[in-house]
Amino acid sequence: MRRASRHFSPFSSRGRRTLLAIVLTFAISSTLSVAVSIWATSRSKHQAAVIQVAARQRTLAERYVQEVLLLQSGKRADPAKTAAILRESALALLDGGPVPSVDGDDDETTIVGQTDPRVRAELRQQLNLVTDLTEAGAAYLRGQTLPNSELTADERVEVKDPVQRLRILAALTSNVSLNAARSIAARADRQIVDLVRLQIALGVGGLLMSLAFAFAIMTATRRQTAHFRSLVTASTDLVLVFGQDGCRYASRSVSRALEQEEPELLGNGFAQFVHPDDRAALADACLNGRPTELLFRIQDPFGAWRQLEAHVTDLRDDKHVAGVVLNARDVSERVRLEEELTRQAFHDGLTGLPNRALFRDRLDQALARSQRSGEPLAVLLLDLDGFKQVNDSLGHDAGDQLLAEVARRLAAVVRPSDTVARLGGDEFAVLLEESDDSASVSLGGRLLERLEDTITVGGHELAVGGSMGIALHAGGAGAGEELLRDADVAMYAAKEAGNGGYELFQPDMARQFGELLGLKQELRLGLDRNEFLLHYQPEIALGTATIVGVEALLRWNSPTRGLTPPLRFIPLAEASGLIVKLGEFVLREACAQTARWRADRLLPEPFVTWVNVSGKQIATGQLHTVVQRALVDAGLPAEYLGLEITETALIEEGPSRERARFQLEALHELGVRIAIDDFGTGFSSLGQLRDFPLDMIKVDRSFVHGVERSDKEAAITANLVSLAHALGVVAIAEGIESEEQLASMRALGCDLAQGFLFAHPLTASELEVVLENPSAAFALTVPQGSPT
Ligand code: C2E
Ligand code: CA
Ligand code: CA
Repeated sequence: MRRASRHFSPFSSRGRRTLLAIVLTFAISSTLSVAVSIWATSRSKHQAAVIQVAARQRTLAERYVQEVLLLQSGKRADPAKTAAILRESALALLDGGPVPSVDGDDDETTIVGQTDPRVRAELRQQLNLVTDLTEAGAAYLRGQTLPNSELTADERVEVKDPVQRLRILAALTSNVSLNAARSIAARADRQIVDLVRLQIALGVGGLLMSLAFAFAIMTATRRQTAHFRSLVTASTDLVLVFGQDGCRYASRSVSRALEQEEPELLGNGFAQFVHPDDRAALADACLNGRPTELLFRIQDPFGAWRQLEAHVTDLRDDKHVAGVVLNARDVSERVRLEEELTRQAFHDGLTGLPNRALFRDRLDQALARSQRSGEPLAVLLLDLDGFKQVNDSLGHDAGDQLLAEVARRLAAVVRPSDTVARLGGDEFAVLLEESDDSASVSLGGRLLERLEDTITVGGHELAVGGSMGIALHAGGAGAGEELLRDADVAMYAAKEAGNGGYELFQPDMARQFGELLGLKQELRLGLDRNEFLLHYQPEIALGTATIVGVEALLRWNSPTRGLTPPLRFIPLAEASGLIVKLGEFVLREACAQTARWRADRLLPEPFVTWVNVSGKQIATGQLHTVVQRALVDAGLPAEYLGLEITETALIEEGPSRERARFQLEALHELGVRIAIDDFGTGFSSLGQLRDFPLDMIKVDRSFVHGVERSDKEAAITANLVSLAHALGVVAIAEGIESEEQLASMRALGCDLAQGFLFAHPLTASELEVVLENPSAAFALTVPQGSPT
């Protein structure tokens, strides 16, 4: 008996409105017809009274004669009263008005006058005859044979006998009254016939109107239904109606999408195509009409899962539908795109691992779980050793391959429930849930071991190691940020301790390495407060033993740290981008100082002040403009300035290399000298260097020292010098500390030399002393008073 169990057919035409219209039409026509009937009946009631009065005239006329005769023979009678009734009745019949009553016969009534001309003529004749009759009667009673007056009615009464005459006049009055009554009755009959006709017309009209209405409404409904049907069936939206007993209607689009006939989908049919994980939520929504939006999957005929987004409308209280309506759309493409975007937002494009944001999120969730369960967890932070060299020397592609391989190895070692993420650069993180210290440490060890296996990248066999910091969370409440920072500190400690190891975070580490976090801020402040200065280390021409230039070396006179050497802060300045501003300071200061020496005529000819330039400064693409401005502002000719660029900063492949070449060429054209620093450490080939405008190659200190160690190393160093000469540029040996080293480098054909053997880096004023007395200064001995 449940209405809900009926099969719902939304396209059956609706008859209710039609019915309503028909009933309404009938009601109107019936009301009209009843009103007409009432009106007509009341009229015919009046006509009946009129006919009765007209008929009564006949009797009254005869009674009048009788009463006259009775009175004449001395009996009791009142013909005058009858005469008055006769006359008043005749007048009322003609123009309407009250009709007096006749004793013992009837009551006084009021009648309406007649309008029909024929009837009126007859009634007027009746009135005249009544007048003639009553005057004749009155004359007879007075004893006259004939009345004084002429007859009013146009009757010809020849008889002289008054009684005879009276009788004839009464007969005439009777006759006329009868005729008038007949005429009135005939007219009433005619009116009844008209009324019947009117009622028939009204009935037929009402019926026709109802039919017309019904037809119009049915047509409109059918058109509307057809419109909806085409909308619903042509639309790609899937429409489903669910009741207590499952699916009660499935639109044609559902049948098409699933390649199933509608009956197959009714009841529990549709649910079989829904993803098992989504069935409960769908069933719930179909029973309760909530939530109003729902996402679920169905399996298409090819076995693929399609994502449907459904709008749920609860029409259980609507007695036409009595169910929950689902309006669903296939949003698979959109969902796929969203998932892809989310994946991109939370994953590292190169390795496919979660990125820092996702790692943080997972860490927070894991900490929340740990708070509930009390289970420990661990964060492992891994930084690759020597990655920068691979990237710089073998190119970005090789670096990328290396990172991808490292990612694969890390992911292969951990459990599927653990999270491996790439936090950036060559830094990876691992989140281990339900893992205590011994489990975490043993896994950390395995990860590092696995890393050390050689990796083949671009034909090169590489062995990368890493330094790992491990921070443990014993269970309970905790903050993700803190745990990551602890792991970071432990990783610094591992790096300090040496390559390829791990350190477990200890609270006292924080004090030791936490200062690194403050260093960046101090550097920034130091730049604002002018805490930086330059030292200058002379460069000697081996042929003439004269000074031909200086290398400007940065120093930080920190109020808290004292005079700090560059290796303590340059890596951090490079990592944080502060090197760009710091480098600009060095350029401006070096140019200004050189211009002052030149103005003081302290400089020999030629003389070059060499400034170290970081790869990061080149990467900005603005190096040539910054240098040009520094030269112009100092008023220094470009030939007095040289730039030292490390080999590794130059040989990166791709657009950055092109950009570097463009800037250096622009500067070289101005007259600025270009040197390659730390030459020999970047494994660059002749071909790679030929593209660049070069004036000098600086053989790295390690090769200068290597000359003394073995013949093999000496051969490499010799090679580097000949490479410089092959390129047609000057070769300089840096870091010369001993006479032996000097002799070797000289033997190898080096043009210039620099090192503690000649001079430590000097302050500007110390250097001025050297410049003022160049011949005395380079007795090839170590000068005193140098700070380093
Ligand atoms: P570098 O460019 O190789 O500079 C030469 C370094 O070797 C200087 O160290 C210098 O004091 C040191 N040195 C000179 N002669 C000898 C020697 O005979 N024996 C030994 N053992 N060392 C010698 P410093 O001043 O500590 O600079 C270290 C590094 O910091 C520089 O290496 C350079 O890479 C970087 N650096 C210095 N100043 C700047 C700068 O203004 N900008 C940039 N980007 N880097 C700079
Ligand atoms: Ca240098
Ligand atoms: Ca160097």
